[in-house]
Amino acid sequence: MDKVTKRIVVLGGGESGCGAAVLAKVKGFDVFLSDKGKIGDSYIGMLKEWDIPFEQGQHTEELVLNADEVIKSPGIPSTAPMVQKIMEKGIHVISEIEFAGRYDTAKKICITGSNGKTTTTSLIYYLLQQAGLNVGLGGNIGKSYAYQVATAKHDIYVLEISSFQLDNMYDFKADIAIITNITPDHLDRYDHKMENYVKAKFRITRNMDKDDCFIFCSDDEITINHLNRIVMKARMLPFSQKHEVEQGAFIRDERMVVRYNDSECDMYLQELALGGKHNIYNSMAAAIAGKVMDIDNEVIRKSLSSFQAVEHRLEKVLSIKDVLYINDSKATNVDAAWYALECQTRPVVWIVGGTDKGNDYAPLIPLAKEKVKAMICMGLDNKKFHESFKSIVPQIHDVTSAKDAVQLASRLASPGDVVLLSPCCASFDLFRNYEDRGRQFKEAVRNL
Ligand code: ADP
Repeated sequence: MDKVTKRIVVLGGGESGCGAAVLAKVKGFDVFLSDKGKIGDSYIGMLKEWDIPFEQGQHTEELVLNADEVIKSPGIPSTAPMVQKIMEKGIHVISEIEFAGRYDTAKKICITGSNGKTTTTSLIYYLLQQAGLNVGLGGNIGKSYAYQVATAKHDIYVLEISSFQLDNMYDFKADIAIITNITPDHLDRYDHKMENYVKAKFRITRNMDKDDCFIFCSDDEITINHLNRIVMKARMLPFSQKHEVEQGAFIRDERMVVRYNDSECDMYLQELALGGKHNIYNSMAAAIAGKVMDIDNEVIRKSLSSFQAVEHRLEKVLSIKDVLYINDSKATNVDAAWYALECQTRPVVWIVGGTDKGNDYAPLIPLAKEKVKAMICMGLDNKKFHESFKSIVPQIHDVTSAKDAVQLASRLASPGDVVLLSPCCASFDLFRNYEDRGRQFKEAVRNL
């Protein structure tokens, strides 16, 4: 009897889902894609081009529940009714990264963490490109990993992986895994249990063995506490700004030092292209990955000193009348904003606000006291900011658009000040997403 073709159903028709569907098609499966919402025009074009049947606006049970395996896009929670039904039927649910990993023999460098994923991933990608290697960039950035596995051939992949993507990974194995740090975020997706979130992040080290490397921040208490409770087979390479480490990265005499096997690479902190304590961590993680990949010290130094900041991450927009405007719209949580304030050396007019994710602003109070001369709350509900900072910051104002925020900031700022958009919050009350918020901010600055 002929072998019956395995049926793969993909849930979600965005970058990840469509990429997975294309790969499934290329590998000869019977593929169907289903999205409960509307699929974007460019993705519909892609599905048609690859002759992949799909539906949008609904999940038709007869077309979904006959799957042999389901690939779930990371944006769909496992509590969604259709996913529940799929699981009740005992159908295996995997992520796009798990699926693509089955067909990829390239070396995989995978980055996760609460903050710094995109920056660290981009730094490593840049570094490996500068070294002349055939490297692909994927995961949460740019073209999906699955699409690239289907259509390109790379020797190495640098993959940014969010905890949502890690949730449905089982046999996938990274050669180098990095956890940048772990601070509370997205707890709503983890039953409000920090432990579940930490475990999800550590899934990035699953299946690794002694020939693989795990790069992590040994100044991060949550990471260290968890490491103390588990058995890690991979080689551990910590980075720290507080103490010297035997293997990994640390600071000595204003220099970042990376030690791997018998070799050391060092460079002055001042030479790093990206400013701020947090970016020293990100640069350390990237430099260790570079050493593990056997990249020349000179290439590591040159790359880390010439890298251009990623848009919306402490991005310097313009200096007008000696006031510097910085777009850090991607700072959607308290920890990211903490690092943004921490690295400011000039008085700050601070633009905050948006959708609160259950934030506790207490950790920001000492920095706000020291550096912030005025706050502008750009959100629909700013009560919590007023309550938290009213006795700390001399003036707090409310606005409901990026244009008003920037115009007010330009009046409040004096020469030598910084206007910093680092909102601590998601953007969905007033903007489509953080990119939209950042672009409207930049546009308003350019129009001053
Ligand atoms: P992610 O992809 O994890 O969201 P990004 O690199 O996009 O991380 O940065 C998100 C925000 O966090 C930015 O505001 C950035 O300045 C800040 N940030 C970057 N790296 C770190 C870090 N290592 N620790 C804390 N905050 C960071």
